[in-house]
Amino acid sequence: MAEPLLEIENLTVAFPTGRREMARVVDGVSLTLNRGETLGVVGESGSGKSMTALSILRLVPEPGRIVQGTITLEGRDLLALPEKAMRPVRGGKIAMIFQDPMTSLNPVFTVGEQIAEAVRIHRGLRGAGAQAEAVEALRRVHIALPERRARQYPHELSGGMRQRVMIAMALACRPDVLLADEPTTALDVTVQAQILALIGELRRDTGMAVLLITHDLGVVAETCERVVVLYAGQVMEQADATTLFSRPAHPYTQGLLASLPEAVPEDAKRLPFIPGQPPSAAQAPTGCPFRPRCPRAMPGVCEKPLPTVTLAPGHVVRCHLYPPPPAPTNGGARMDAGNVPSGTVPAGTPIRGGGGGL
Ligand code: SF4
Repeated sequence: MAEPLLEIENLTVAFPTGRREMARVVDGVSLTLNRGETLGVVGESGSGKSMTALSILRLVPEPGRIVQGTITLEGRDLLALPEKAMRPVRGGKIAMIFQDPMTSLNPVFTVGEQIAEAVRIHRGLRGAGAQAEAVEALRRVHIALPERRARQYPHELSGGMRQRVMIAMALACRPDVLLADEPTTALDVTVQAQILALIGELRRDTGMAVLLITHDLGVVAETCERVVVLYAGQVMEQADATTLFSRPAHPYTQGLLASLPEAVPEDAKRLPFIPGQPPSAAQAPTGCPFRPRCPRAMPGVCEKPLPTVTLAPGHVVRCHLYPPPPAPTNGGARMDAGNVPSGTVPAGTPIRGGGGGL
């Protein structure tokens, strides 16, 4: 039985664009991360993936701000906590690893000192105990000669090793949640596979939950139990990984999957792609934000607010192609696996507009 650990409800993050206007870079996102699972968050650059993760730690860069929503960790609303109470949560309860470790590691301290400092702050270990824990953390992420590496500076290590150091630092504090923001994008394919295997191994050993942010659907297919597809700051589709890859419902998800090189026939002359660009947050169209790029857009329909439709337990889509369910009786639909509104749409329900996939 899935046990919710981190719950995000109707999260909206906006940046000022003029005197009175705010551009929503995250727009009403709701999702749940269950204990011990890996949840993939996918979408193009600018879809709101990283901003959602930064919001969880309340690290939205100025002048952006969270204008709406709740973020709950084990029943505690993180957005309502005083700043002082947030400090042990950052790094202690929730750790984050970033795409480029060079921008996250301090170049003037050895990696061992940096891990030991995190351990001192979040676990209260001191002196030799903290140093020993730092070495142990490096060993846990399969860094050879960890005693020696702990005495080295970030620039003395390879890219893959620096990323391992970041993971070691994050995990040394034994977090309940790991936010991994494109953790392997800067790495070559071999190291990428090692890092993903390592995160999976540590998740199984420690029972932590992982929110894996990526634009790489291949990585998601290999590592995630469930997937959330973001577009223009909004959740477009959510399902378990098997369902999403075998029966994608949203035209955007279908377009992403059709663009995978593995999905393209060998004799194809060109790789399929989704035409156009994602809208800027300041100029998002009314109704469906994917409308200008969608081959199935229906004039007069897709300009309207998007319905939230549950196609099967845990498979939720926001698109006018699917008939909206009857008015909910439970206070509103929510894009969460396991929370199925009363008006679900049976699998195989004909869709509006007809036509095939992208
Ligand atoms: Fe396409 Fe309309 Fe569905 Fe948006 S709502 S994805 S424009 S069919």
